Amino acid sequence: MNCLWCHEEIIPEITWSNLFQPVSQIPFCTECERELKRLEGPQCQRCGRLTSEKLCADCRSWGNGTTDLLEFNHSIFTYNKMMQDIITKWKYRGDYILGNIFKSYVIEAFKIRFAFLEKDFVAIPIPLSEERMKERGFNQAQVLAEFLPVQHADILTRKHGLKQSKRTRMERISAENPFFIDQHINNPVILVDDIYTTGTTLRHAARLLKEHECPEIYAFTLIRG
Ligand SMILES: [Zn+2]
Ligand SMILES: [Zn+2]
Repeated sequence: MNCLWCHEEIIPEITWSNLFQPVSQIPFCTECERELKRLEGPQCQRCGRLTSEKLCADCRSWGNGTTDLLEFNHSIFTYNKMMQDIITKWKYRGDYILGNIFKSYVIEAFKIRFAFLEKDFVAIPIPLSEERMKERGFNQAQVLAEFLPVQHADILTRKHGLKQSKRTRMERISAENPFFIDQHINNPVILVDDIYTTGTTLRHAARLLKEHECPEIYAFTLIRG
């Protein structure tokens, strides 16, 4: 097997402890893996921002006296140069297979962080608009949701609009809800996306779900931007 990023052959290390176990099939070599940075250290309990505060300023204003729409967000990695390069190639240049780099991390983190959830919850990927989907060929959030060992439901749709990245922070926060849903959902939900940046996209989706009877909403993202 070769590393999906640097294409070097991955030679599994055989030790006494793994001699009789199947060799793990991570298509990512240790050298490349070392370049990714896990989200570690004191962080906001709601969104995962690195801070010594229990709740960061953003999350305090999201809650704003009432309860936040999100129970919490869990991200696996921070955004560094290596991650940026991988995401660019995967998401913007349509290298679908490259997403497999993240599979085992997603499964592992999910099992640890969301172990407390009962069986009836559903993973919902943040959708792309139809136009963006045509342009890119696949939705990275859907790929991540499909890695999860739980049922997922693609019940959100998204109106086409300005690219998030071309908006200023204020524009993003004040923008109208870009999502649609045409059914009620009584299960707890884990929203899945590739990156948590301002948290606006996820909260737009969460607001819509809450309006359609969803009792509890969590977010699971690959990267805390
Ligand atoms: Zn590599
Ligand atoms: Zn926060």
